[in-house]
Amino acid sequence: MAYDENNIFAKILRGEIPCDKVHENSHALAFKDINPQAAIHVLVIPKGAYVDLTDFSANASAEEIAGFIRTVGETARILGMTTDGYRALTNIGEFGRQEVPHLHIHLFGGQQLGRMIKPPEK
Ligand code: AMP
Repeated sequence: MAYDENNIFAKILRGEIPCDKVHENSHALAFKDINPQAAIHVLVIPKGAYVDLTDFSANASAEEIAGFIRTVGETARILGMTTDGYRALTNIGEFGRQEVPHLHIHLFGGQQLGRMIKPPEK
């Protein structure tokens, strides 16, 4: 799948749409999810144009991958989630129910979380 330069996270990275920023460095940006599914729900996105984890893992440089993954961990520490625990998740493609086609890791925490996979809604 080709990268869509007009996806909403690309617009956030270009500063065309605001976000509630939690953390940023040269590799990644972390911001609060607009429709939180847990007491803490933050998204971490790489600054490069990657559709999803499949694209990123195949095409990003080692420096981009290390920088992004480190930023995911830094963000969890900034959010104070590392002692009690949290969930990191990324949706990919149609079966994964990915809505925004720019790689993002969801960080959920601040509460006891439910089971990992729920049956799909009808
Ligand atoms: P996914 O289904 O994994 O692609 O998740 C996309 C996530 O992006 C959803 O949890 C949305 O609530 C979130 N989202 C969509 N637009 C925005 C936005 N402008 N700012 C923050 N989060 C957003």
